[in-house]
Amino acid sequence: MPPRDETEFLAAVASMRPHARRVVDPLAGRTRVRILERTSCGGRASCALGTIVEQGDERTSSFEVELLRATMDGSLGARFLTVHELAHLVEYDLFDASDRTAIERTFRRSPRWRACFLHQGSCLEFSEVFADQFAMYALREPRSMTTYAVPRLLTDAAFEALLVRHAG
Ligand SMILES: [Zn+2]
Repeated sequence: MPPRDETEFLAAVASMRPHARRVVDPLAGRTRVRILERTSCGGRASCALGTIVEQGDERTSSFEVELLRATMDGSLGARFLTVHELAHLVEYDLFDASDRTAIERTFRRSPRWRACFLHQGSCLEFSEVFADQFAMYALREPRSMTTYAVPRLLTDAAFEALLVRHAG
């Protein structure tokens, strides 16, 4: 990663509140981050990819985050997007199906929950709802800064309790 890109990525990680950092730090150390003109996931979007290899009792995971250069301008929005992508790795590495079900059940109790968060004609997957919630909590932002614009569903304390329960 060129030094300026790395600085921007590390600045995003460093700006997270302490508990979010504690969850992300072990993953960030195993993540290859690239800032690209065109990403391998749809070209004009940023994305996170995880690979888990299980051999007997050994489980190794490796992660990649591809960030779109045009959006990486050192702004708060760029940091928000970076943390949103890292949140995908948290979900991928730390949650199993029962964690996802329990977290979604908690989200559903929010008065701002909707059966469908509409984005470009289809309902968002749980992963995107979670990643936006994580980024808002981690960066202390009242609103999502991705194009998904999912409303904030939980208070800081409630979201942190979920993280402690499901991500350690
Ligand atoms: Zn996403």
